[in-house]
Amino acid sequence: MSTSEGWRIPAVEALRVTEATRVADLNTNGTPGFDGDKALGARLLEQRGAVLSGLQEMLFAGARTTDEHRSVLLILQGMDTAGKGGVVRHVIGHVDPQGVDHASFGVPTPEEKRHHYLWRIRRELPRKGQLGVFDRSHYEDILVVRVHDLVPRTEWETRYDEINAFEHDLVESGTTVVKVAMFVSLDEQKSRLAERLDRPDKYWKYHPSDVTERGYWPKYQEAYQAMLDRTSTEHAPWFVIPSDRKWFSRLAVTELLIDALERLDLSWPPADFDIEAEKLRLARS
Ligand code: AMP
Ligand code: MG
Repeated sequence: MSTSEGWRIPAVEALRVTEATRVADLNTNGTPGFDGDKALGARLLEQRGAVLSGLQEMLFAGARTTDEHRSVLLILQGMDTAGKGGVVRHVIGHVDPQGVDHASFGVPTPEEKRHHYLWRIRRELPRKGQLGVFDRSHYEDILVVRVHDLVPRTEWETRYDEINAFEHDLVESGTTVVKVAMFVSLDEQKSRLAERLDRPDKYWKYHPSDVTERGYWPKYQEAYQAMLDRTSTEHAPWFVIPSDRKWFSRLAVTELLIDALERLDLSWPPADFDIEAEKLRLARS
């Protein structure tokens, strides 16, 4: 594994959840593994964003022209204002939109409520050759659902194993799953919510329930801890991203995606025509 500029420890190592990870003690302002400052982070985001874009195009090209059937799925979890939308805009924004299968998951609709909680998830899984992005996911069904006991405990308790099995099948079928948990401090969330209340262009992101949920912070931390403890697996590990500094969280997710794509060992699909003959034909045309 190579270390890229600014990283003392590769992001995949520095950010991967361990048995010692404690959500309640996390330094959300930290930049684990990365020694640079905001200016370097911003410069690298552009540079590495271009690398990400090239890799994604290779995955896409393979699925269009060969029997390449693999895909990558980025799962973003985090409290409101953690920066999930910023990752979509500033990281995934580097990638050709036609190669991205994006989905966000809010409060289940009446139709979704009539189905198993994984029903709406399965419908949005990335197609072959695509980079899937989930802004929230099936993990809501063990986070908000657990915090508020939206279903009885006996029911949400079974979901950890069920999710592990679901993701295992997903990985077996060729989807690399990159799970990113973004954490901001209670104070940082407060100032981000305050900004939403101060700016007309941000009102739309604000919801009064965001403040209500702040009252459940310790219960959310407990739910996130259980999620990390029980659903970080060999086939689909969690990465924990301190997210008080937006430039860091965006750079970190870029690195995780680059690593996932590089591990696919992709290459450009070969021409399925006679290149020299086509050059001649073109010259004569
Ligand atoms: P946002 O991401 O700001 O659009 O908010 C979406 C809201 O939907 C959040 O408050 C989530 O907790 C909520 N949500 C997402 N999935 C579920 C679910 N399965 N059950 C209940 N609420 C959910
Ligand atoms: Mg919100």
